[in-house]
Amino acid sequence: MSNTNTAIVTGGARGIGLAIARRLAQDGYAVAIADIDLPTAEAAAAALREAGYPALALQADVTQPADATAMVQAVVERWGRLNVLVNNAGIAGRNQPFTEVTLAEWNQVLNIDLTGVFLCSQAAVRAMLPQGAGRIVNIASIAGKEGNPGLQAYAAAKAGVIGLTKSMGKELAKKGILVNAIAPAVIETEILQQVTPEMVQYMLDRVPMGRFGKPEEVAELVAWLVSPACSFSTGAVYDLSGGRAVY
Ligand code: NDP
Repeated sequence: MSNTNTAIVTGGARGIGLAIARRLAQDGYAVAIADIDLPTAEAAAAALREAGYPALALQADVTQPADATAMVQAVVERWGRLNVLVNNAGIAGRNQPFTEVTLAEWNQVLNIDLTGVFLCSQAAVRAMLPQGAGRIVNIASIAGKEGNPGLQAYAAAKAGVIGLTKSMGKELAKKGILVNAIAPAVIETEILQQVTPEMVQYMLDRVPMGRFGKPEEVAELVAWLVSPACSFSTGAVYDLSGGRAVY
């Protein structure tokens, strides 16, 4: 078993997840980039290896229990343990009037954004419990606290992630496993192409700093949440909203 700390970042092939993977690599973690898009994950992991960091790409659809288990197993087999899971994979879904949302669209967003967090966390916790240590960071959203009109499934799923974070944080508090969430407002990534320009403007208008957040700003908070410096927080939700969040 190596002494390297290890991390899995779901949806780590691009956007916020890629920034988190890069940051954790720089902080000394061996990083597994787990994504539904294997070629892009491979390219991201190869770039990290070229920069001298241990990195691995894994094909994982977070909605599939077998993928969640295999993802954790792959890291434990390769590097001996799993220290950190970042549940980042997510989709916004289409923004549309509530009466037009189909059950299929609702289920797709709930499956990826909420059930995926449950499945990956369960697989990770099963590996972390015998270690007596671990960190889980869930990328929720300000939408889970405030809601965004037209993004009903997304807001419901992210509110679910916040509830799951609080429940797991309390349950695992004495097991050495800290579970926290981040609730970002609008961050400039390709996910914004899933919603209308009007929706993007709506979200931007609500940010008192008047700008998009950067993926690296999310990565910075993740880096702290998984570090030994964060020692008395679990089941907590950290805002990253340029001033939008009021509670
Ligand atoms: P991106 O769309 O840029 O990246 C998301 C990544 O997740 C993609 O690589 C995507 O693959 C992957 N992914 C999608 N579905 C699955 C799946 N079923 N299993 C595994 N991987 C999957 O999004 P962001 O980087 O912007 O978002 C990352 C997280 O941050 C999400 O949870 C999002 O909800 C959250 N967030 C984002 C905000 C923003 O404004 N950007 C604000 C608040 C929260 P593929 O490209 O193949 O679909």
